[in-house]
Amino acid sequence: MVSRVIPVEPFDLVIFGGTGDLARRKILPGLFRRFCAGQMPDEARIIGAARSDIDDDGYRKMVAEAITEFGNGFTCEAKTLDAFLERIGYVAVDATGTGGWDELTSRIRDGVVHAFYFSVGPSLFGDIAERLHSHGLAREDARIVVEKPFGRDLQSARALNATLAEHFREDQIYRIDHYLGKETVQNLMAVRFGNVLFEPLWNAQYVDHIQITVAETVGVGGRGGYYDKSGAMRDMVQNHLMQLLCLIAMEPPSKFEPDEVRDEKLKVIRALEPVDPHHIVRGQYAAGGDEASYREHAEDPRSTTESFIALKAHISNWRWAGTPFYLRTGKRLKARTSEIAVVFKDAPHSIFGVDAGRHRNVLAIRLQPNEGMTLDVTIKEPGPGGMRLIDVPLDMSFADALGEEAEEVTDAYERLIMDVIRGNQTLFMRGDEVEAAWAWTDPLIEGWQNRGDVPKPYDPGTSGPDDSMMLMHRDGRRWRELKK
Ligand code: NAD
Repeated sequence: MVSRVIPVEPFDLVIFGGTGDLARRKILPGLFRRFCAGQMPDEARIIGAARSDIDDDGYRKMVAEAITEFGNGFTCEAKTLDAFLERIGYVAVDATGTGGWDELTSRIRDGVVHAFYFSVGPSLFGDIAERLHSHGLAREDARIVVEKPFGRDLQSARALNATLAEHFREDQIYRIDHYLGKETVQNLMAVRFGNVLFEPLWNAQYVDHIQITVAETVGVGGRGGYYDKSGAMRDMVQNHLMQLLCLIAMEPPSKFEPDEVRDEKLKVIRALEPVDPHHIVRGQYAAGGDEASYREHAEDPRSTTESFIALKAHISNWRWAGTPFYLRTGKRLKARTSEIAVVFKDAPHSIFGVDAGRHRNVLAIRLQPNEGMTLDVTIKEPGPGGMRLIDVPLDMSFADALGEEAEEVTDAYERLIMDVIRGNQTLFMRGDEVEAAWAWTDPLIEGWQNRGDVPKPYDPGTSGPDDSMMLMHRDGRRWRELKK
């Protein structure tokens, strides 16, 4: 199978923070892969803009090193890398001052798409937007890309939205949640809305519950100080898990178009009920192996920030009334796994008797590792000895089903950047979505702060605190095992 790559229009892409960790780790290697795939026209230009006092050649060297270090072994001919580097430039810019702005402005060409990636801390978004405007770069058709975190509560998210709105319309603002750029996440929409098989069963009548898990094996490491100000709820649930929940739970949009999709996601967020405090479990990893405890990393022996959270949410609408959505995410867990599992109800009557045991269909959508989907189907155990039932997975690993093409699965960042150039906002969060997500999250955080809640310690390499298991056991359910 040969993938179809449609080149995008010529563009000038300015990466503010072009020397930073995110640019080197994700954005630049991703752009290089798109270049190698033939998606970038000859006229494309990428300009790094950051504080470091380097020139074009110095930056090209940095870009080449980043591609080697973070390209996951992706290689192509040396002359292709040279051709990519020819399209790269650099301007030292002071986001809060005047330095570099005239130079940057002179490098921007007419007649091409203008995209400005704000890969800097959110405190600089306003300064950059303001300077783009005063230098005539906030043109009608310019696009800006902003990174997470988009605020730390409803108030700050509103303030950020208002700041950006001073110079850019909503259809010019691309708020990145890279989970939306993942292949499997988009496949989730293809599976739901491209087949007749699932949608009739996709409701409270047939679905017992849904589990969304994003588990990491790593701790906060050197980012402890930064992470301690946010915690798992702000860092993961408010954005990534919420977006997954929306895609699983939303009504079919009338078209796969930005506002149609985002309108439906927004309705899901607004229909989320406040979570009962007894249905929230927060945890903090203890020391283990060679690694220090969360509190040591956070450099605060009394920190009450959670590195793990599990909760049970409900959506009040006709489709989902009574169906719980269990969400969990954490660091230093047993395996690095991201998965959505739709657990269907038991067959209404078992003709095979109690000895046949309890069997359920489960549709598991794996985001990592090994992106793909499995559907557990109940069949007869082969061989003589009566009617014994077992569950076997119908496995659709993209790597197996699609061969080489799947191995080349486009990284979320590169897909999303190309969407920016194409002007397609479907996989980006709208301002009202982000605010609605904070409006649901804020009272939960305030609640545990007011109660003086202290997270439960858990051992590294486990599935989190025991209370997380209890959250499920009390309902007669259990989490799916975290598998490597
Ligand atoms: P970083 O600290 O590594 O890099 C910051 C960049 O901003 C540098 O290039 C620096 O030169 C530039 N910068 C800082 N102050 C400046 C100023 N006054 N004028 C001009 N340039 C200035 O940060 P990062 O990890 O690359 O993160 C960038 C953004 O992306 C942040 O908002 C972060 O939350 C977000 N993010 C990062 C990651 C990641 O993996 N690193 C993941 C998700 C989101």
